[in-house]
This record gives sequence, C-alpha cells and structure tokens, in this order.
Amino acid sequence: MDRIFLSPPHMGGGEMAFIEEAFRNNFIAPLGANVTGFEDAIRMYTGANAALGVVSGTAAIHLALRVLGVGAGDRVATSSFTFIGSVTPIVFQGAEPIFIDSDRESWNLSPELLETCLKRDRPKAVIVTHLYGQLANIDAIAALCDHYGATLIEDAAESLGALSGKRQSGTIAPLGIYSFNGNKIITTSGGGMLVAHDPAAIKQAFFLATQARENTPYYEHKTIGYNYRMSNIVAGIGRGQMQVLADRIRRRREIFEYYKQALGDLPINFMPELSGTTGSRWLTTLTIEDRRIAPETVRLALENENIESRALWKPMHLQPVFVKAKSVIGGVSEALFERGVCLPSGTAMTDNDLARICAAFRKVFA
Ligand SMILES: *Cc1c(COP(=O)(O)O)cnc(C)c1O
Repeated sequence: MDRIFLSPPHMGGGEMAFIEEAFRNNFIAPLGANVTGFEDAIRMYTGANAALGVVSGTAAIHLALRVLGVGAGDRVATSSFTFIGSVTPIVFQGAEPIFIDSDRESWNLSPELLETCLKRDRPKAVIVTHLYGQLANIDAIAALCDHYGATLIEDAAESLGALSGKRQSGTIAPLGIYSFNGNKIITTSGGGMLVAHDPAAIKQAFFLATQARENTPYYEHKTIGYNYRMSNIVAGIGRGQMQVLADRIRRRREIFEYYKQALGDLPINFMPELSGTTGSRWLTTLTIEDRRIAPETVRLALENENIESRALWKPMHLQPVFVKAKSVIGGVSEALFERGVCLPSGTAMTDNDLARICAAFRKVFA
C-alpha cells in the first residue's frame, strides 16, 4: 500500500506560472516581483501592516530579536512545548532562554506560569508559539507582556490562517513570524516571513537581512547583518500556495473532524481549541488516555501499515542542550509528550486514506 506521510507538500497548480515568470525575466535572485508579490499576498490575507520574506521561520525569529535589540545579558521567555527553531535564535543572540510550560486548556504557553517568570526574571521579550495551528491564550499573554514591559513575538510558524476572533495569528503581537518549510500548511520548500505592526521594524529587518549594507555607493558596514532574504523562485511557489491557503485550512479542519467522528469513542483526547478561536488544525494531535497503550506502540503499528505518524514535540526544558536553562514548569507539556501522537494531516489525503489510518489506529485498541 502507498505510504501516507504526516504532512507532505500539496501544490495548488498555480506555482509554476510564477516560477516561469521569474525565469522569463531572469530574476533568479533574492529580490523581484515574486518576493514582493508574496509579501503583499501575506499582508492581504493576514491584515499585517508590513511583511518581509526570508529564508526560514527561524531566520524571521532571529530578525525579530535583532530588531528588538535582544543581546547578551537579556532574557527571553518562551514556550517550552514547541519546535527548537522557535528558540535557537535566542541562543544565537547570546541571550538566555527561559522555558514556560503549557496549560491544559490550550496546550500552549500558560499565562499564569508566564507571570511568575515576568515577575521573577524580567525578560525583555516573550516568544509564544501557536502549536499545531491552535491559538495560545493570546489576549491574556499580551496583557501580561504589556504590564511587565516585555515585547511579545508570535511564533505562528504552524498557525498561518488561524484566528483569535477575526484577528490572524501572527498579527496580534507587535511582531510575528510564519514558516513555509516542507511540512507546513503551505510550503515554498523552505522559507519564512516576518510581519510587524510597525513598518519601521520591517525596514530595519530588511537592512539586517541583506548584510546590513549602508546606503552608500560603495559597500559600507557599521553593524553585522545576515544573508536571510527570500529567493524570487521560492517566493513564486509561495504566491501559488497563497491562492489555495483558505482551502487548505478548510480541509485540515475537515480532517480533524473526520478523526474525531471516527475515533472519538476510544480512550483518547484531541487537542482542544480555545473558545473564541478558530485554529487551522495544521496537525491533528491527541493523547492516549489508556496507560497500557504507549504512543510509540501506536506509531509502530501505523508504521507497519506504511502510515507515518509522530510523537508530539519534546519540550525544550527536557532537551539535553538546555539542561542548564531556567524554566517555569507545571508538568503539562511533559505529560502531553509522554501520551501524545500526531496523525497524518496532509490535505491531499482522500477519505479512503483517512479510513485506512483510522482502521489501523483502532486495531491497537482492539
Ligand atoms: C517550523 C517551525 C519553526 C521554524 O521554521 P523554519 O522555517 O523551519 O525555520 C519555528 N517554530 C515552530 C513552532 C515551527 O513549527
């Protein structure tokens, strides 16, 4: 039987036309109409004031920290339950990451535990991840950041198109980032975007993303920058993918509902959705409540039928590379990691594929 992948790319059909246009104009460069067009499409879709296309989501977070002036001696509080790309830029800057646990209501950063850190450690910035396409308790988190004078960055790498009310994830805080890596809800093979309320922040990020070259006829540098700008070819893929983003979100949510209908009677709990929010259900994730069944047993059983699934993210405070890091931990992300599974969620799957996955999943519980 054909392999079912966790979240493979799903092209919309419009991508090649944009790439061919770049070839026709010989704009095979980290600038051009596709880069601008992709940034415009993201601004239009999300309502962000300003956007900058870059090589990855990780690079976008790095630029956000640079724009805020985060450096050695500064502390940055961040979700522990996340992917490491969310966190490494803090270390690149020589700043200190402080890991905050999740709450049960959202599986995302706990406002209560964040407040403990804000009081105790006075971080300069906070990075909140909207995990698996589901919103964190963003209003409570933003209010705390305002109160304690920390700037909030939204890591919306997994949540492009997810909503809190009518507001798009990534655009609620002063700075936000998206990722277009290979398994995200839309992909450019690799790429990212920084969005901001303040166009001056994006202007500064552009300067840093293009080697911090001063406005002189020769190459003059007063600070250190990066080569982070998105390529015009990659951006062509992004423009094509933006044409189908709304469809992709609809289908991801439909896939989640399918699993819920088909498997809801089993001893499992699906990732919640906070009231007032509409997640993208980038990945359908759940915990197995029957303690006799290990998530790894489920993963291997699915693998045996050529179906890819995955454990939830291993919390950052449990990572060997961060053993010495400070944290505020309540046990939630560890418990989720111990009991959690991500099911295949690719939008090109048919209902037959879904039935096959559900049958294989159910067998483990028989
Ligand atoms: C994918 C991802 C990133 C990093 O994005 P890249 O484009 O792969 O660099 C950061 N944070 C989270 C939560 C992610 O899922």
